[in-house]
Amino acid sequence: MDEQKDVLSEPEWSQADWASGWTIHVGKAYSCRKCGTMIMVTKGGIGTLEPKCCGRDMALVERPDEIR
Ligand SMILES: [Zn+2]
Repeated sequence: MDEQKDVLSEPEWSQADWASGWTIHVGKAYSCRKCGTMIMVTKGGIGTLEPKCCGRDMALVERPDEIR
């Protein structure tokens, strides 16, 4: 009985998985497809980033250096 209890309390994500899934990386950029506003992450951290502009979600820019 005790063994089943241990399985249930086991976290599905390891701490490393959790950190990589929630880390905000410096250099990531988001742009608004409507007005062209772009924002860039200048300081990393842990959390979620869901920028909005013109009432819509901003699009993630994978390689901001290539955008002109
Ligand atoms: Zn906009």
